[in-house]
Amino acid sequence: MINNRIANDFLSQSVSEDDLKNVKAIIQALLEGNETDEEIHEKTGIKLNTVRKLLYKLHDASIANYKRNKDPETQWFTYSWSFNEKEYIEKITKFYNNRIEERKTLLDELENNLYFVCCMDQEHFKGDYAESSEYEFYCPICDYELEPYDSKKEKSLLKRRITIDKKNFKKLMDSYNKQTGKNGN
Ligand SMILES: [Zn+2]
Repeated sequence: MINNRIANDFLSQSVSEDDLKNVKAIIQALLEGNETDEEIHEKTGIKLNTVRKLLYKLHDASIANYKRNKDPETQWFTYSWSFNEKEYIEKITKFYNNRIEERKTLLDELENNLYFVCCMDQEHFKGDYAESSEYEFYCPICDYELEPYDSKKEKSLLKRRITIDKKNFKKLMDSYNKQTGKNGN
């Protein structure tokens, strides 16, 4: 449920590349029933400060909650954390749907429009017919001619990404359903 491309990409919106591995270990520890930052720190070996920082990031993303308790002996406050699986799945589902939608829109545009690129360097210019005719089909950067853009590669890349996303999302949902099924027993 955590080791999944879509889950990775979703979590990467909230944490840096370096923290991704840690945040996944923390989620795993929460799922296994570790509640306090100390317990998570001991379980994962991640520095206590990092554990705390990342727990609050998960909280900001609304996928982790905490309860504050006062220790009757020491009068210290302790925080018991929990992972909000339902919210996590809902948020990932939204993230996934948006991404599929964006890629399908892009694919539609490529299929229904003719684009032009600079014949010297595609980074210079890429535009549809109207945009290209504004420049009279000359590159606005280097003044070489524009040529029709061959979108075959980009289209097949998009199609592949959509297929991979669908497959990964199915895997994620399968593992979630299996897990909630187990908890229900
Ligand atoms: Zn150019």
